[in-house]
Parts: sequence; structure tokens; C-alpha cells
Amino acid sequence: MAILVIHGGAGGDGPWLGKTPLDPGRIACMERVLKVVGAKLESGEIDCLEAATLAVELLEDEPLFNAGQGSVIGEDGSITMDASIMRGSDKAAGSVINVKKLRHPIRAANLILHQGWPVMLNSSAADDFGVKCGIEEVSQDWLKTELRQGQWEQWKRNKANPGATDEDDSVLDHDLEGRVATEFSDEGMGTVGAVALDITGNLAAATSTGGMTGKPVGRVGDTPIIGAGTWADDTIAVSCTGVGEAYIRTCAAHTLATNYQATDDLTHSADKILNEVAPLGGRGGLIAVTASGEFAMPFQTRLMYRGYWKNGEMGIGIGPKLE
Ligand code: ASP
Repeated sequence: MAILVIHGGAGGDGPWLGKTPLDPGRIACMERVLKVVGAKLESGEIDCLEAATLAVELLEDEPLFNAGQGSVIGEDGSITMDASIMRGSDKAAGSVINVKKLRHPIRAANLILHQGWPVMLNSSAADDFGVKCGIEEVSQDWLKTELRQGQWEQWKRNKANPGATDEDDSVLDHDLEGRVATEFSDEGMGTVGAVALDITGNLAAATSTGGMTGKPVGRVGDTPIIGAGTWADDTIAVSCTGVGEAYIRTCAAHTLATNYQATDDLTHSADKILNEVAPLGGRGGLIAVTASGEFAMPFQTRLMYRGYWKNGEMGIGIGPKLE
């Protein structure tokens, strides 16, 4: 059995308003990732760790998601990215914080995991490590897209909260068919993640993000924190998305694992942790896969970009229903 589940971020408040004109691009990317990486995972060509890494790398390369190229822009006008990865079989982990010049932050996290010590590197030390290991070095201009620049300018004009414009595609298209213009929301969005179960029964989880539009310099979200945004052990692998501070305060990914191990009930355990996160201002979502072959993709926001591959079968969704 082989399972790959991915997400491209959760966000928004209120009822589902339908797809934006940019959503078909996001769907096409998720479909490609699931097909390419799912097939390799199922054939045994790659293991769960490489599947999670590769899936996230491909999502980092899609400018419409908030990771790698297309990351959101912080308060000072620069992009800083966080990523982490964990392997369930031996709880090996790697994490990078606030990197500024790596095309694939998740690969740097993967290489830290393989190196074995330390688990986390931050800022220029993490950038230097990645570049030294051969990860493509890119400029801030290359990472920035017109959409993110527009969201950042809108955020500045409105002096909004961090993350307030992250879900708003309308900065580029003010005449969205079938979609009511939305008020700002506090939710961050577009973070990417992957969890995988490989044919040997091992699990891995990976998450990567640019964080939240307008985030203060030095801010660290949940994404690079093992046990908050990412977790894997020999029973479950988890990747989270939403306002990171609440996921940190609830150790969300690890708490889900503990709940699951106590109850053997994935749906209930996933809902339980999202219900703990929400009152702390962090409504969002997560993806999880278990060693027994179950997976879940719950969210409490208006939408979550998500998809799964299980033994050649595939499903993708944004709103409440899969496509
Ligand atoms: N969790 C990410 C952060 O707080 C944002 C997101 O998932 O959209 O940095």
C-alpha cells in the first residue's frame, strides 16, 4: 500500500464562495504532484521521506502557493521561508527557519535530517548550509510574484493584521465571476505540505511556507517547529496549516499523534486538535496518514487546497467537497 496526501494551505472565513480564476492553476499543480510522486511512491522507486520532499519541492515551485517562489512578503518587504521534515521510523527530523535565498527550503530541511545533527538551522546559517549542499540559490526578486507584491501593498495600505491578504486573489482580478469580493480575513494561507506512507509501511511528513503577509522580522511560525506544524512517528504522519501561533501553543501535530495513539480514531483525533487550535485564533487544517492506511484532510476554514493518492486512486478538493 502507498499513500500520498498533500495540502496547499487553508484559510478564509465563512461559506465557500467558489473557485477564483487562479484556482485551476493550483488544481493542475496538485494533480501533477499527486500523479508524479504517487506513481514513484507506489512503484517503490522512492520512499516516504523522498516522496514528501519531492511533493513539497514541486509545490514550492508553483508560484500560486505560499512556499518557495510565490511566498508571501513580510513587514519589511522581504521574503523569509520556513520548512521542516520528519521521518517516522526513527524520528529523524530537519528544519530551516527564515531562509531568504533557497529555491527549495524543504530540501535543506531534508539534508539537515540526513546529516543527523543539529535538527534546526536558522537564517543565514540555514541559507549557507543549503547553498553549500548544492540547493539552487535564488534572488528575492525571483521569489517575489506580482500577486504577492499586490497583496503586500494592499496589506500596507490597509495596515491590516499579518496574514490579512493571504487569501485574496482579487488584488489582481477585481471582477471575479461567481465570487463575491471578500473582506480581509485574519487567516494565513498557501503553505504547502505532504505526508506519505510507503510500501514498506514507513511514514514521513513535510511542510514549507513563506509564513504570513506582513509578518514581523524574525517571526517563526509553526511550520519549522517539529511537533507543531510537522510530525511523524511509526503510527502517523501530520502536516498542518493555519495561523501558526495557535498550532505552536497546542503542539498541534504531536498532540494529534498522541490522541490518535490513545483512541485509534483518526477522524475524531484530528477534529479534536482543530477544536483546540481554533479558540486560540488559529483556525486552519491539517493532513494526516496512518501506518494502517487511513488518511484525513480536515479543515475549519472556508477552504483548504488538498489532495490524496492512494494505490492509484486520486482526489483533489478546495471547498467542502472534493472535485
Ligand atoms: N502556518 C503558517 C505560518 O503560520 C501559515 C499557513 O499555514 O498558512 O507561518
